[in-house]
Amino acid sequence: MRVLLLAPPGAGKGTQGERLAAHFGITHISSGDLLRAELTDRSPLGEKVRHYLAAGDLVPDGVMEQLLMGPARAAGAAGGYVLDGFPRTVHQAEQAYLIASDEGIELQAVLFLAVPDDVLVQRLLARRRGNDDTEATIRRRLEVYHAETEPLVEHYRTRGLLREVNGDQPVERVTEACLAALAGVGV
Ligand code: AMP
Repeated sequence: MRVLLLAPPGAGKGTQGERLAAHFGITHISSGDLLRAELTDRSPLGEKVRHYLAAGDLVPDGVMEQLLMGPARAAGAAGGYVLDGFPRTVHQAEQAYLIASDEGIELQAVLFLAVPDDVLVQRLLARRRGNDDTEATIRRRLEVYHAETEPLVEHYRTRGLLREVNGDQPVERVTEACLAALAGVGV
């Protein structure tokens, strides 16, 4: 099973990513977690991307590809992945598709977790995660989501991959809805 969780910040893609990966026995790959690990390690890559995360802006595509392709390849060979946070732009999606389809590890389904903006802002304000989550950063992340990431909904709908789930319900219900939406997707 190779699936992408597509959702605005605060919609719960990290939580659902972990739950779905555990359910299917596959790897959860979170681009945000991988980046935050680099920040914590104070690695050269971490230092290079720190200001993008603090501002709520997107990290450059080249860095993301460098960070994600290794884990995605390994997971693709080991039964599959739940990707969370990458691709996040149409350009990233096109680049990743070129590489992944070449290797037979392209996406089989895209789960879109829909949550209204006002709910997202309330959730994000309630769970600020250190200095990258000021109110200005939260608003910027939402703005970037609408401008850069939301076009992926139509991108994947056109390709027949999109499955929409109501993300504005309790965690267990969202997981059930995700599993129902994935019924019939190959293993
Ligand atoms: P997330 O935990 O998925 O909300 O990601 C946290 C932050 O990491 C984002 O606000 C971006 O700054 C950065 N980031 C995560 N994934 C990507 C990506 N695919 N492309 C560019 N930046 C990303």
